[in-house]
Amino acid sequence: MAGALIALGGNVGDVRATFARAIPDLCRAARAKLVARSSDYLTPPWGDLQQPAFVNAGISIETELDPKALLSVLQDVERKFGRDRSAERRWGPRPLDLDLIAYDDIAMQSPELTLPHPRLFERAFVLVPLAEITPDRVVAGRTVRVALAKLSAAGIERLPNMD
Ligand code: ATP
Ligand code: CA
Ligand code: CA
Repeated sequence: MAGALIALGGNVGDVRATFARAIPDLCRAARAKLVARSSDYLTPPWGDLQQPAFVNAGISIETELDPKALLSVLQDVERKFGRDRSAERRWGPRPLDLDLIAYDDIAMQSPELTLPHPRLFERAFVLVPLAEITPDRVVAGRTVRVALAKLSAAGIERLPNMD
């Protein structure tokens, strides 16, 4: 079994309801065990500021799928919840984005899949949820906690649990 970290994001539709359905869906499709799930966070848009706030979360799973097969499952789930890459602009609005942040300690670089995720250390909206569930996990030589300490988490707000 491999340990993977996945970042969830979205800012179109009822994103929290999408996450609640997408997480069990992706675990089923990846034959994965959900190890931990963060709270949902409201976060300012990144990269393209002219769009609504995002909801972000992070999960930790254990899976037997290899990294590319896991990415393909993530993309299937994105599509199921209305993602249409052909109709969007870079870093623009979307109902669901599922990024593979880390997969065990694997480092790889291809356009299709780069691990760990190349923009991980620039993004408090990724590191804040992951720091809630797995602060001591080492990714590319630093713990999630230390990586987050180098960023501003201004404007990021933890949302109350829904249940
Ligand atoms: P960013 O990658 O900066 O977060 P994005 O999530 O908006 O931007 P997408 O349009 O969702 O970008 O994905 C673009 C491509 O990135 C995908 O086709 C996918 O093959 C590739 N990709 C490379 N590495 C990863 C990764 N670690 N996780 C998810 N997708 C990746
Ligand atoms: Ca992304
Ligand atoms: Ca993505």
